[in-house]
Amino acid sequence: MSIINFDKLRKIIPITVNAQELLSKPEKEITFQINIHINKKLFSFYGYVVYYNTVRGPAKGGIRLSPNVTLEETRDLAERMVYKTALTDIPFGGGKSGVCIDPAKFDRYDIRCILQEYVHILQIDLNTQTYIPAPDMGSSPLEMMVIYGETHIPESVTGKPITVGGLPGRNEATGRGAAVIAKEAAVNFIDKPINEINVAIQGFGNVGSFAAYFLSMWGMKVVAVSDVQCGIFNPEGLPIPEMMNCAKKDGTLSTLCLGEKISNADLLTLDVDILIPAACENVINIDNAQNIRSSIIIEAANGPTTYEADEILNGKNIKVIPDILSNAGGVIASYVEWHQGKSGILTDISETFAVIDKLLKKNFVLVKDMAEKWNISHRDAAHAIAVQKVITAMKDRGWI
Ligand code: NAD
Repeated sequence: MSIINFDKLRKIIPITVNAQELLSKPEKEITFQINIHINKKLFSFYGYVVYYNTVRGPAKGGIRLSPNVTLEETRDLAERMVYKTALTDIPFGGGKSGVCIDPAKFDRYDIRCILQEYVHILQIDLNTQTYIPAPDMGSSPLEMMVIYGETHIPESVTGKPITVGGLPGRNEATGRGAAVIAKEAAVNFIDKPINEINVAIQGFGNVGSFAAYFLSMWGMKVVAVSDVQCGIFNPEGLPIPEMMNCAKKDGTLSTLCLGEKISNADLLTLDVDILIPAACENVINIDNAQNIRSSIIIEAANGPTTYEADEILNGKNIKVIPDILSNAGGVIASYVEWHQGKSGILTDISETFAVIDKLLKKNFVLVKDMAEKWNISHRDAAHAIAVQKVITAMKDRGWI
Protein backbone atom coordinates (compact mmCIF):
# COMPACT_ATOMS: atom_id res chain seq x y z
CA MET A 1 0.00 0.00 0.00
CA SER A 2 1.30 3.45 -0.91
CA ILE A 3 2.24 5.82 1.89
CA ILE A 4 0.31 8.49 -0.02
CA ASN A 5 -3.43 8.91 0.48
CA PHE A 6 -4.21 10.07 -3.06
CA ASP A 7 -7.93 10.62 -2.37
CA LYS A 8 -7.13 12.99 0.47
CA LEU A 9 -4.44 14.88 -1.48
CA ARG A 10 -6.62 15.25 -4.57
CA LYS A 11 -8.63 17.87 -2.66
CA ILE A 12 -5.50 20.03 -2.49
CA ILE A 13 -3.50 19.26 -5.64
CA PRO A 14 -4.48 17.87 -9.06
CA ILE A 15 -3.55 14.18 -9.37
CA THR A 16 -4.48 12.54 -12.66
CA VAL A 17 -5.30 8.84 -12.98
CA ASN A 18 -2.03 8.29 -14.86
CA ALA A 19 0.02 10.05 -12.20
CA GLN A 20 -1.59 7.97 -9.46
CA GLU A 21 -1.03 4.80 -11.48
CA LEU A 22 2.72 5.45 -11.74
CA LEU A 23 3.09 6.59 -8.13
CA SER A 24 1.18 3.62 -6.73
CA LYS A 25 3.83 1.03 -7.58
CA PRO A 26 7.61 0.75 -7.73
CA GLU A 27 9.47 0.98 -11.04
CA LYS A 28 11.69 -1.99 -10.31
CA GLU A 29 12.31 -4.53 -7.56
CA ILE A 30 15.11 -7.06 -7.30
CA THR A 31 15.23 -10.00 -4.91
CA PHE A 32 18.56 -11.78 -4.53
CA GLN A 33 20.49 -14.11 -2.27
CA ILE A 34 23.90 -13.61 -0.76
CA ASN A 35 25.42 -17.06 -0.27
CA ILE A 36 28.66 -17.15 1.63
CA HIS A 37 30.82 -19.59 3.59
CA ILE A 38 32.00 -18.40 6.99
CA ASN A 39 34.16 -20.80 9.01
CA LYS A 40 33.21 -23.57 6.57
CA LYS A 41 29.48 -23.01 7.23
CA LEU A 42 27.12 -21.86 4.49
CA PHE A 43 25.06 -18.73 5.21
CA SER A 44 22.35 -17.62 2.83
CA PHE A 45 20.79 -14.18 3.24
CA TYR A 46 17.89 -12.72 1.29
CA GLY A 47 18.39 -9.22 -0.07
CA TYR A 48 16.14 -6.71 -1.79
CA VAL A 49 16.60 -3.54 -3.85
CA VAL A 50 13.68 -1.34 -4.79
CA TYR A 51 13.79 1.60 -7.20
CA TYR A 52 10.44 3.19 -6.46
CA ASN A 53 10.53 6.26 -8.71
CA THR A 54 13.55 7.76 -10.46
CA VAL A 55 11.94 10.56 -12.43
CA ARG A 56 13.90 13.21 -10.49
CA GLY A 57 17.25 11.40 -10.47
CA PRO A 58 19.04 8.16 -9.64
CA ALA A 59 17.58 5.92 -6.90
CA LYS A 60 18.96 7.08 -3.57
CA GLY A 61 18.40 5.30 -0.29
CA GLY A 62 20.09 3.47 2.54
CA ILE A 63 20.99 -0.17 3.02
CA ARG A 64 19.17 -1.76 5.97
CA LEU A 65 20.86 -4.73 7.62
CA SER A 66 18.33 -6.39 9.90
CA PRO A 67 16.88 -9.86 10.42
CA ASN A 68 13.39 -8.39 9.93
CA VAL A 69 13.98 -6.88 6.47
CA THR A 70 11.27 -7.76 3.92
CA LEU A 71 10.54 -6.75 0.35
CA GLU A 72 7.43 -4.88 1.53
CA GLU A 73 9.44 -2.89 4.09
CA THR A 74 12.13 -2.08 1.50
CA ARG A 75 9.44 -0.90 -0.94
CA ASP A 76 7.85 1.31 1.72
CA LEU A 77 11.22 2.86 2.59
CA ALA A 78 12.07 3.42 -1.09
CA GLU A 79 8.77 5.23 -1.60
CA ARG A 80 9.51 7.53 1.34
CA MET A 81 12.83 8.44 -0.33
CA VAL A 82 10.97 9.61 -3.46
CA TYR A 83 9.09 12.24 -1.46
CA LYS A 84 11.93 13.10 0.92
CA THR A 85 14.18 14.04 -1.99
CA ALA A 86 11.35 15.85 -3.81
CA LEU A 87 10.28 17.87 -0.77
CA THR A 88 13.81 19.11 -0.16
CA ASP A 89 14.60 19.61 -3.90
CA ILE A 90 17.45 17.11 -3.88
CA PRO A 91 17.88 15.79 -7.46
CA PHE A 92 17.62 12.09 -6.59
CA GLY A 93 14.89 9.51 -6.96
CA GLY A 94 13.78 7.07 -4.30
CA GLY A 95 15.37 3.69 -3.67
CA LYS A 96 16.29 1.41 -0.81
CA SER A 97 17.88 -1.93 -0.19
CA GLY A 98 17.91 -4.40 2.63
CA VAL A 99 19.65 -7.59 3.62
CA CYS A 100 18.01 -10.03 5.99
CA ILE A 101 20.86 -10.42 8.47
CA ASP A 102 21.59 -9.69 12.11
CA PRO A 103 24.88 -7.78 11.75
CA ALA A 104 25.60 -8.10 15.49
CA LYS A 105 26.17 -11.84 14.99
CA PHE A 106 29.09 -11.36 12.59
CA ASP A 107 32.49 -9.74 12.95
CA ARG A 108 33.59 -6.88 10.72
CA TYR A 109 35.59 -9.17 8.42
CA ASP A 110 32.54 -11.38 7.83
CA ILE A 111 30.41 -8.29 7.19
CA ARG A 112 33.03 -7.12 4.73
CA CYS A 113 32.81 -10.39 2.76
CA ILE A 114 28.99 -10.21 2.84
CA LEU A 115 29.03 -6.62 1.56
CA GLN A 116 31.54 -7.51 -1.16
CA GLU A 117 29.15 -10.20 -2.35
CA TYR A 118 26.30 -7.62 -2.24
CA VAL A 119 28.35 -5.38 -4.55
CA HIS A 120 29.13 -8.25 -6.94
CA ILE A 121 25.40 -8.96 -7.30
CA LEU A 122 24.47 -5.29 -7.86
CA GLN A 123 27.69 -4.35 -9.64
CA ILE A 124 26.20 -2.82 -12.80
CA ASP A 125 23.65 -0.69 -10.93
CA LEU A 126 26.27 0.53 -8.47
CA ASN A 127 28.92 1.26 -11.08
CA THR A 128 26.47 3.19 -13.25
CA GLN A 129 25.00 4.93 -10.18
CA THR A 130 21.53 3.69 -11.01
CA TYR A 131 21.36 3.06 -7.26
CA ILE A 132 23.42 5.11 -4.78
CA PRO A 133 23.38 3.56 -1.28
CA ALA A 134 23.99 5.13 2.14
CA PRO A 135 23.81 3.87 5.74
CA ASP A 136 20.50 2.91 7.35
CA MET A 137 19.56 0.83 10.37
CA GLY A 138 22.26 -1.77 11.00
CA SER A 139 24.75 -0.32 8.49
CA SER A 140 27.39 2.35 9.02
CA PRO A 141 30.23 4.20 7.26
CA LEU A 142 32.30 1.00 7.51
CA GLU A 143 29.94 -0.86 5.18
CA MET A 144 29.85 2.11 2.79
CA MET A 145 33.65 1.98 2.67
CA VAL A 146 33.45 -1.65 1.52
CA ILE A 147 31.17 -0.61 -1.34
CA TYR A 148 33.52 2.19 -2.35
CA GLY A 149 36.41 -0.28 -2.12
CA GLU A 150 34.67 -2.41 -4.75
CA THR A 151 33.40 0.28 -7.15
CA HIS A 152 36.36 2.72 -6.83
CA ILE A 153 33.86 5.49 -7.65
CA PRO A 154 33.60 8.10 -4.86
CA GLU A 155 30.08 9.20 -5.80
CA SER A 156 28.73 5.63 -6.07
CA VAL A 157 27.98 5.56 -2.34
CA THR A 158 27.49 8.17 0.39
CA GLY A 159 27.97 8.00 4.13
CA LYS A 160 31.60 6.91 3.69
CA PRO A 161 34.13 7.54 6.48
CA ILE A 162 35.83 10.92 6.18
CA THR A 163 39.19 9.15 5.70
CA VAL A 164 37.99 7.76 2.35
CA GLY A 165 36.11 10.60 0.71
CA GLY A 166 33.26 10.87 3.20
CA LEU A 167 31.69 14.17 4.16
CA PRO A 168 32.40 15.92 7.45
CA GLY A 169 28.97 16.07 9.12
CA ARG A 170 27.33 13.19 7.18
CA ASN A 171 27.39 10.93 10.25
CA GLU A 172 25.62 13.57 12.34
CA ALA A 173 23.35 14.78 9.50
CA THR A 174 20.10 12.90 10.05
CA GLY A 175 20.12 13.51 13.80
CA ARG A 176 21.03 17.14 13.29
CA GLY A 177 18.21 17.54 10.80
CA ALA A 178 15.71 16.02 13.23
CA ALA A 179 17.01 18.38 15.93
CA VAL A 180 16.66 21.41 13.61
CA ILE A 181 13.05 20.46 12.85
CA ALA A 182 12.34 19.84 16.55
CA LYS A 183 13.68 23.28 17.42
CA GLU A 184 11.65 24.98 14.67
CA ALA A 185 8.53 23.13 15.84
CA ALA A 186 9.20 24.10 19.46
CA VAL A 187 9.67 27.77 18.60
CA ASN A 188 6.49 27.82 16.52
CA PHE A 189 4.17 25.60 18.55
CA ILE A 190 5.26 25.66 22.20
CA ASP A 191 4.91 28.75 24.32
CA LYS A 192 7.92 28.10 26.58
CA PRO A 193 11.59 29.11 26.60
CA ILE A 194 13.86 26.54 24.94
CA ASN A 195 15.53 25.54 28.20
CA GLU A 196 12.18 24.50 29.68
CA ILE A 197 11.29 22.20 26.81
CA ASN A 198 11.72 18.52 27.55
CA VAL A 199 12.22 15.77 25.02
CA ALA A 200 12.03 11.96 24.95
CA ILE A 201 13.85 10.05 22.22
CA GLN A 202 13.29 6.40 21.32
CA GLY A 203 16.38 4.84 19.70
CA PHE A 204 19.93 5.89 20.54
CA GLY A 205 21.69 4.80 17.36
CA ASN A 206 23.00 7.11 14.66
CA VAL A 207 19.87 9.24 14.35
CA GLY A 208 18.58 9.27 17.92
CA SER A 209 21.93 9.92 19.59
CA PHE A 210 22.83 12.89 17.39
CA ALA A 211 19.32 14.34 17.65
CA ALA A 212 19.73 14.13 21.44
CA TYR A 213 23.20 15.64 21.24
CA PHE A 214 22.22 18.73 19.25
CA LEU A 215 19.02 19.37 21.21
CA SER A 216 20.87 19.17 24.51
CA MET A 217 23.62 21.45 23.12
CA TRP A 218 20.91 23.96 22.14
CA GLY A 219 19.55 23.98 25.69
CA MET A 220 16.59 21.59 25.60
CA LYS A 221 16.24 19.01 28.33
CA VAL A 222 16.51 15.48 26.93
CA VAL A 223 14.83 13.60 29.78
CA ALA A 224 14.56 10.11 28.30
CA VAL A 225 16.34 7.99 25.71
CA SER A 226 16.25 4.28 24.90
CA ASP A 227 17.84 1.56 22.84
CA VAL A 228 16.34 -1.80 21.93
CA GLN A 229 17.08 -3.16 25.42
CA CYS A 230 15.89 -0.42 27.77
CA GLY A 231 15.16 3.24 28.37
CA ILE A 232 16.52 5.73 30.90
CA PHE A 233 14.44 8.57 32.33
CA ASN A 234 15.67 11.49 34.40
CA PRO A 235 13.38 14.55 34.72
CA GLU A 236 16.46 16.74 35.39
CA GLY A 237 17.88 15.93 31.93
CA LEU A 238 20.44 13.34 30.78
CA PRO A 239 24.19 13.83 30.06
CA ILE A 240 24.00 12.96 26.36
CA PRO A 241 27.74 13.10 25.42
CA GLU A 242 28.55 10.70 28.28
CA MET A 243 25.78 8.37 27.15
CA MET A 244 27.03 8.47 23.56
CA ASN A 245 30.47 7.37 24.75
CA CYS A 246 28.91 4.54 26.74
CA ALA A 247 26.73 3.39 23.84
CA LYS A 248 29.81 3.37 21.61
CA LYS A 249 31.94 1.47 24.14
CA ASP A 250 29.39 -1.04 25.51
CA GLY A 251 26.95 -1.17 22.60
CA THR A 252 24.08 -0.57 25.04
CA LEU A 253 22.69 1.96 27.52
CA SER A 254 21.67 -0.76 29.99
CA THR A 255 24.96 -0.52 31.93
CA LEU A 256 24.32 3.16 32.83
CA CYS A 257 22.83 4.29 36.15
CA LEU A 258 21.82 7.86 35.32
CA GLY A 259 18.12 7.70 36.09
CA GLU A 260 15.10 5.47 36.30
CA LYS A 261 15.06 2.44 33.97
CA ILE A 262 11.92 2.47 31.82
CA SER A 263 10.62 0.36 28.97
CA ASN A 264 10.33 1.55 25.38
CA ALA A 265 6.55 1.46 25.76
CA ASP A 266 6.77 3.75 28.82
CA LEU A 267 9.05 6.19 26.99
CA LEU A 268 6.53 6.74 24.23
CA THR A 269 3.80 7.83 26.64
CA LEU A 270 5.91 10.11 28.88
CA ASP A 271 4.49 13.55 29.63
CA VAL A 272 7.02 15.53 27.55
CA ASP A 273 6.79 18.45 25.12
CA ILE A 274 8.48 16.66 22.22
CA LEU A 275 8.60 12.96 21.44
CA ILE A 276 11.13 11.76 18.86
CA PRO A 277 10.75 8.17 17.64
CA ALA A 278 14.19 7.45 16.15
CA ALA A 279 14.29 3.66 16.06
CA CYS A 280 11.93 1.73 13.82
CA GLU A 281 8.52 1.54 12.13
CA ASN A 282 5.00 1.41 13.55
CA VAL A 283 5.94 2.05 17.19
CA ILE A 284 3.11 4.58 17.55
CA ASN A 285 0.06 2.53 16.72
CA ILE A 286 -3.56 1.95 17.56
CA ASP A 287 -2.59 0.40 20.92
CA ASN A 288 -0.75 3.42 22.32
CA ALA A 289 -1.74 6.49 20.24
CA GLN A 290 -4.52 7.47 22.61
CA ASN A 291 -1.97 7.52 25.49
CA ILE A 292 0.63 9.74 23.79
CA ARG A 293 1.03 12.91 25.87
CA SER A 294 3.60 14.99 23.98
CA SER A 295 2.35 17.99 22.03
CA ILE A 296 4.80 17.48 19.14
CA ILE A 297 6.11 14.32 17.47
CA ILE A 298 9.20 14.53 15.27
CA GLU A 299 9.38 11.43 13.09
CA ALA A 300 13.14 10.89 12.98
CA ALA A 301 12.62 7.19 12.15
CA ASN A 302 10.98 6.19 8.90
CA GLY A 303 7.30 5.39 9.29
CA PRO A 304 7.09 5.28 13.11
CA THR A 305 3.36 6.16 13.11
CA THR A 306 0.73 3.85 11.65
CA TYR A 307 -2.12 5.25 9.58
CA GLU A 308 -4.69 4.60 12.33
CA ALA A 309 -2.47 6.16 14.99
CA ASP A 310 -1.97 9.23 12.80
CA GLU A 311 -5.73 9.81 12.69
CA ILE A 312 -5.91 9.51 16.50
CA LEU A 313 -2.99 11.93 16.99
CA ASN A 314 -4.60 14.45 14.60
CA GLY A 315 -7.80 14.16 16.62
CA LYS A 316 -5.82 14.95 19.78
CA ASN A 317 -4.31 18.00 18.00
CA ILE A 318 -0.78 16.62 18.40
CA LYS A 319 1.52 18.11 15.76
CA VAL A 320 3.26 15.29 13.90
CA ILE A 321 6.14 16.47 11.71
CA PRO A 322 6.47 13.68 9.15
CA ASP A 323 9.53 11.59 8.41
CA ILE A 324 9.98 12.93 4.88
CA LEU A 325 10.86 16.28 6.48
CA SER A 326 12.14 15.31 9.93
CA ASN A 327 14.79 12.85 8.79
CA ALA A 328 15.70 14.45 5.46
CA GLY A 329 18.98 15.83 6.88
CA GLY A 330 20.68 12.55 5.94
CA VAL A 331 19.84 12.64 2.26
CA ILE A 332 20.61 16.35 2.06
CA ALA A 333 24.12 15.62 3.38
CA SER A 334 24.35 12.63 1.04
CA TYR A 335 23.74 14.98 -1.86
CA VAL A 336 26.53 17.26 -0.63
CA GLU A 337 28.84 14.21 -0.34
CA TRP A 338 27.87 13.00 -3.82
CA HIS A 339 28.62 16.47 -5.17
CA GLN A 340 31.96 16.49 -3.34
CA GLY A 341 32.80 13.08 -4.87
CA LYS A 342 31.92 14.23 -8.37
CA SER A 343 33.59 17.64 -8.21
CA GLY A 344 36.54 16.90 -5.94
CA ILE A 345 35.76 20.09 -4.04
CA LEU A 346 36.13 19.50 -0.29
CA THR A 347 33.39 20.58 2.10
CA ASP A 348 33.82 21.30 5.80
CA ILE A 349 31.41 20.42 8.58
CA SER A 350 30.05 23.94 8.99
CA GLU A 351 29.17 24.04 5.28
CA THR A 352 27.41 20.67 5.55
CA PHE A 353 25.38 21.83 8.55
CA ALA A 354 24.60 25.15 6.83
CA VAL A 355 23.05 23.33 3.84
CA ILE A 356 21.02 20.99 6.07
CA ASP A 357 19.80 23.80 8.33
CA LYS A 358 18.86 26.09 5.45
CA LEU A 359 16.92 23.51 3.43
CA LEU A 360 15.11 22.09 6.45
CA LYS A 361 14.13 25.47 7.92
CA LYS A 362 12.84 26.61 4.54
CA ASN A 363 10.79 23.46 4.05
CA PHE A 364 9.47 23.52 7.61
CA VAL A 365 7.94 26.93 6.88
CA LEU A 366 6.50 25.77 3.53
CA VAL A 367 4.91 22.71 5.16
CA LYS A 368 3.58 24.70 8.13
CA ASP A 369 2.09 27.38 5.86
CA MET A 370 0.48 24.75 3.62
CA ALA A 371 -0.98 22.96 6.66
CA GLU A 372 -2.41 26.25 7.98
CA LYS A 373 -3.75 27.38 4.60
CA TRP A 374 -5.71 24.14 3.99
CA ASN A 375 -6.32 23.22 7.64
CA ILE A 376 -4.65 19.83 7.13
CA SER A 377 -2.00 17.84 9.01
CA HIS A 378 1.69 18.50 8.49
CA ARG A 379 1.97 15.04 6.95
CA ASP A 380 -0.69 15.80 4.33
CA ALA A 381 0.90 19.19 3.65
CA ALA A 382 4.39 17.70 3.18
CA HIS A 383 3.00 14.92 0.99
CA ALA A 384 1.05 17.41 -1.15
CA ILE A 385 4.14 19.55 -1.79
CA ALA A 386 6.34 16.53 -2.57
CA VAL A 387 3.82 14.66 -4.73
CA GLN A 388 3.20 17.80 -6.78
CA LYS A 389 6.93 18.11 -7.53
CA VAL A 390 7.18 14.46 -8.61
CA ILE A 391 4.10 14.80 -10.83
CA THR A 392 5.54 17.94 -12.44
CA ALA A 393 8.80 16.09 -13.15
CA MET A 394 6.88 13.15 -14.66
CA LYS A 395 5.04 15.61 -16.93
CA ASP A 396 8.29 17.36 -17.88
CA ARG A 397 9.90 14.05 -18.84
CA GLY A 398 6.85 12.92 -20.80
CA TRP A 399 6.09 10.00 -18.50
CA ILE A 400 2.48 11.12 -18.18
P1 NAD B 1 20.79 2.49 14.16
O1 NAD B 1 20.88 1.04 13.84
O2 NAD B 1 22.03 3.30 14.21
O3 NAD B 1 20.05 2.70 15.58
C1 NAD B 1 18.80 2.16 15.87
C2 NAD B 1 18.50 2.40 17.35
O4 NAD B 1 17.17 1.96 17.64
C3 NAD B 1 19.41 1.62 18.30
O5 NAD B 1 19.60 2.36 19.49
C4 NAD B 1 18.61 0.35 18.59
O6 NAD B 1 18.98 -0.24 19.83
C5 NAD B 1 17.21 0.96 18.67
N1 NAD B 1 16.14 0.00 18.38
C6 NAD B 1 16.13 -0.95 17.41
N2 NAD B 1 14.96 -1.63 17.46
C7 NAD B 1 14.24 -1.06 18.45
C8 NAD B 1 12.96 -1.32 19.00
N3 NAD B 1 12.19 -2.31 18.52
N4 NAD B 1 12.52 -0.54 20.02
C9 NAD B 1 13.30 0.46 20.49
N5 NAD B 1 14.53 0.73 20.04
C10 NAD B 1 14.98 -0.01 19.03
O7 NAD B 1 19.73 3.08 13.11
P2 NAD B 1 19.62 4.57 12.60
O8 NAD B 1 20.48 4.73 11.40
O9 NAD B 1 19.75 5.50 13.76
O10 NAD B 1 18.11 4.59 12.05
C11 NAD B 1 17.01 4.78 12.91
C12 NAD B 1 15.81 5.16 12.08
O11 NAD B 1 16.09 6.35 11.33
C13 NAD B 1 15.36 4.13 11.04
O12 NAD B 1 13.97 4.18 10.90
C14 NAD B 1 16.02 4.62 9.76
O13 NAD B 1 15.35 4.16 8.59
C15 NAD B 1 15.85 6.11 9.94
N6 NAD B 1 16.78 6.90 9.15
C16 NAD B 1 18.12 6.76 9.26
C17 NAD B 1 18.96 7.56 8.50
C18 NAD B 1 20.46 7.53 8.66
O14 NAD B 1 21.13 8.38 8.06
N7 NAD B 1 21.03 6.62 9.43
C19 NAD B 1 18.42 8.47 7.59
C20 NAD B 1 17.04 8.61 7.50
C21 NAD B 1 16.23 7.82 8.28
